[in-house]
Amino acid sequence: MESRGPTDEVLDLLFPPRCQVCDRLGSDLLCETCLEEVLFIGEHACACCGVPLRPTQRASQVCADCRGWRWISGARAAGLHAGALRAAIIRYKFDGRTRLVEPLAAMLVEVVRAEAERIGLPLGECAALVPVPLHPGRRSWRGFDQAELLCERTADEVGLPVWTDVIARIRNTTPQVNLRGASRLENVRGAFEARKAWKLRGRSVILVDDVFTTGATINECAAVLRRAGAVAVYGLTVSRTAPLWHPAAFTDVGDDAREAS
Ligand SMILES: [Zn+2]
Ligand SMILES: [Zn+2]
Repeated sequence: MESRGPTDEVLDLLFPPRCQVCDRLGSDLLCETCLEEVLFIGEHACACCGVPLRPTQRASQVCADCRGWRWISGARAAGLHAGALRAAIIRYKFDGRTRLVEPLAAMLVEVVRAEAERIGLPLGECAALVPVPLHPGRRSWRGFDQAELLCERTADEVGLPVWTDVIARIRNTTPQVNLRGASRLENVRGAFEARKAWKLRGRSVILVDDVFTTGATINECAAVLRRAGAVAVYGLTVSRTAPLWHPAAFTDVGDDAREAS
């Protein structure tokens, strides 16, 4: 039977497919040129938080920052928060280009699958994906929850449910990008509250967010979930800020004020 809806060809004529980052016509949502620019992290990373290690560091090493984490059991990100990946996240979050969730979630799926093979993120032991919660006010202002949408697109592929009801943001916080060091820890302290602790007891979960900056937010969420009974909490993000020794640490930082929202 013939479909009465517009065909894909007609839709393509009306809304030609284009890269959602550089606007190149006739491409995937994230074109090949943009994708080539993404600095994927790969295997040579801290065994705990997933930050890239210097070429001279041993692969199994844990970085200096990780000695300070009390609650995160491990964290992984697909790529560095620079260039096209950072641009893609900004457009996804602030320009309403929510279709970018597809290539971004695909990157998360890749990470989870690769890490399940190693021991970084023990997928088989994890019960659910948990989005880092947005404050309800910010959610309604933005119109969607970027972390929740990423979870929804990742969940089926990795075979885990999404739990949106185990942690809530009870206080709106200053965006972490506007703060430095210790004030980031202070800013998120007490901002979250666990719910339905019975779901968490004895379980391991994967916290999902778009960007891992200093880890203060994910660490605070992990603390709340662990105190409520979770045995392990892992962090999974699309990007993470580059370590200071990395050339990408000083590229296009802070040229988009919206990133601070
Ligand atoms: Zn592009
Ligand atoms: Zn580390």
